[in-house]
Amino acid sequence: MARTKKDVLYDAVVVGGGPSGRIAALALARSGLQTALIAPLEAPADERTTALWQKSLDLLKDLGIWNEIELNAEPLKKMRMIDGTERLIRAPETVFNSAELGVEEFGYNIVNSKMNDVLAKACAIEANLTCVDDFAEEADFSGTQATITTKSGLAVTAALAVAADGRNSKMRSAAGIEVKRWSYPQTALVLNLDHTLPHHGVSTEFHTATGPFTLVPLPGRRSSLVCVETAETAERLKTMNKALLARELEDRARSVLGKFTVISEPQTFPLSGMTAQSVIAPRLALLGETAHVFPPVGAQGLNLSMRDISDLVSTVATAKQKGQDLGSLTALKPYETKRMSDIRSRTNAVDMLNRSLLTEFLPVQAARSVGMYLAGKIGPFRRLLMREGMAPGTGFQLRP
Ligand SMILES: Cc1cc2nc3c(=O)[nH]c(=O)nc-3n(C[C@H](O)[C@H](O)[C@H](O)COP(=O)(O)OP(=O)(O)OC[C@H]3O[C@@H](n4cnc5c(N)ncnc54)[C@H](O)[C@@H]3O)c2cc1C
Repeated sequence: MARTKKDVLYDAVVVGGGPSGRIAALALARSGLQTALIAPLEAPADERTTALWQKSLDLLKDLGIWNEIELNAEPLKKMRMIDGTERLIRAPETVFNSAELGVEEFGYNIVNSKMNDVLAKACAIEANLTCVDDFAEEADFSGTQATITTKSGLAVTAALAVAADGRNSKMRSAAGIEVKRWSYPQTALVLNLDHTLPHHGVSTEFHTATGPFTLVPLPGRRSSLVCVETAETAERLKTMNKALLARELEDRARSVLGKFTVISEPQTFPLSGMTAQSVIAPRLALLGETAHVFPPVGAQGLNLSMRDISDLVSTVATAKQKGQDLGSLTALKPYETKRMSDIRSRTNAVDMLNRSLLTEFLPVQAARSVGMYLAGKIGPFRRLLMREGMAPGTGFQLRP
């Protein structure tokens, strides 16, 4: 059950109860900060799944919540890329195997609704964490403390506010942080499937002329699907009779997993991007989709948010050790420096990957095919791509 306190001065107040906000609140509280989390307890069920790489899992393990999340997650052992275009120059099929990196799996595919349940439960019993079951309505960052006022009129005051209230963040607007937004001519159709053949822990990604069609393993003979299409086709698929939809999707998947049954309501997500111009302001730090949004290509969004959280916790711990004011720009500056370069490079990489599939420009198609060919043939290059996909900056470390 959520506890509430009035008129208490906190070290940190986190706004937003998505995965980024809850994990950040837990991590800050665990680091010894008196923390408040402003988040409505009732959240719409999220039937999507999220692939998290090893580094992200390490954070969940450190917080002691991984064992419970793992019960509804499936290890991702191999990734198979298939060029599903009809183009003149096509890439050969390439398989990335986690065993080549000396690990049992790249990461796990997790059912969002189950992860959110575990996070809500963990937040409710965390010693240094006070959960406020409400929406943040107003924010004042002008004084020596941040004050967040909730819809029901409660004022929560802290040295540092952390905005994790999503892409249309009120907190970010209140601080006057500008964003850059853009969109793509694509929509992702997302659903879960039962299938008659086992997936053996292999995720399969068909590269099509409209974007990736990706099947990601779930426990049992079950997978999640992200099918990136034109907006019109995605809407047509979404409203189709489920049996016919299953047939069409099975054809697109070349029956690699046998016969499909659609087991969740299909959802659509228009593809777009957004980057905040800064992730700090006086008394405020941004993280998760409040700071960066990009298309669901390459499973990078929440993984990037997990690095936001780790960097924020270590920045604040250093500031505390130095006796600095936790919400001051001096204390937060290292967070800005670390995060902006990672956010920009990931955003550019996902953007390039997505656009390289869409382009009709022959030299780009050829470059992508050569890249996939080299990845298939040259072990060190393939391992570099795998390491960079999982954790930026680790790809260039010399390892066998
Ligand atoms: C189809 C799809 C597939 C994806 N797959 C992957 C994947 O495989 N791997 C990966 O790493 N990423 C993936 N992502 C990205 C990932 O889902 C997002 O990065 C992640 O959900 C963002 O979480 P968040 O907590 O930052 O934001 P959100 O989930 O948007 O949470 C924001 C929260 O803030 C709350 N809120 C808003 N306003 C207020 C307010 N005023 N007061 C209090 N609370 C407020 C909202 O209710 C919400 O709960 C995928 C995304 C999509 C669309």
